[in-house]
Amino acid sequence: MSSIEKTEAVVLRSIPFRETSKIVTFYTRRFGRLSTIVKGARRSPGRFGSSLEPMSHNLIIVYKKEGRELQTLSQSDRISSFRRLTEDLDRMAAGMSMIELVWLVTREEEENEALFSLLTGSLAAADDATKNPSSVLYLFEVRLAKILGFQPFFNRCAGCGKTLAQGNLTGALIRFHLDRGGALCESCPPEGGHIVLLSRPVFDALRGLSEAPDAESANGVLLDAPTGDGVREFLWKYLRHHVPDLRPLRSESVFSRMLDSDVRP
Ligand SMILES: [Zn+2]
Repeated sequence: MSSIEKTEAVVLRSIPFRETSKIVTFYTRRFGRLSTIVKGARRSPGRFGSSLEPMSHNLIIVYKKEGRELQTLSQSDRISSFRRLTEDLDRMAAGMSMIELVWLVTREEEENEALFSLLTGSLAAADDATKNPSSVLYLFEVRLAKILGFQPFFNRCAGCGKTLAQGNLTGALIRFHLDRGGALCESCPPEGGHIVLLSRPVFDALRGLSEAPDAESANGVLLDAPTGDGVREFLWKYLRHHVPDLRPLRSESVFSRMLDSDVRP
């Protein structure tokens, strides 16, 4: 069966194909991840404008045939410009990491509207971020874990269930149980399984992020460098623990090299 379908979509990947075409993979609202061939995209680039660039948020029309690996894209128009995402390295690093993560945790044609909304909302928040685009990425990762079914929690003990507060979290380091997805209070005995130790500022930052009401509010979460590094490291460990075949993000290593070196404009 074949049909002509219209859907909102974000470009995850765009690669040249043969002399004149491109293979563009989208994350779409209606069909989840969808790989398409765009015939003639390289011969007449004006036809699609900048809508085939990674992170573009578009309305697309696809000629879709069941059982085919690559669908045919017939039209793509940008909905949001996300202009600042590509103008600034910190914002771009956050956005590129988001689309790469979505690419890595999804399969073709498995619809997930919550994930689509998370992606577009987080790209918009990173585009808007005036202070701290990396916090928008961290919040995206916390919410991605929730959508995938292993939401981390920071408000009660993963051992006894008691509320975590000053009284039962006095030490400098807090044990976080990766398998259970939560921290352990000080009254709980040593536990088997995979435990990581979090510094107090990292724990507090993660708790703050997990309670943030929306993607935009992450912009206000300012973290100093060691805390930001700790949060990034923890979230990566946590995602890796629950998505075992997750490989390191290419965008992460590319951008951290750029941000650390003189390449930065
Ligand atoms: Zn406990």
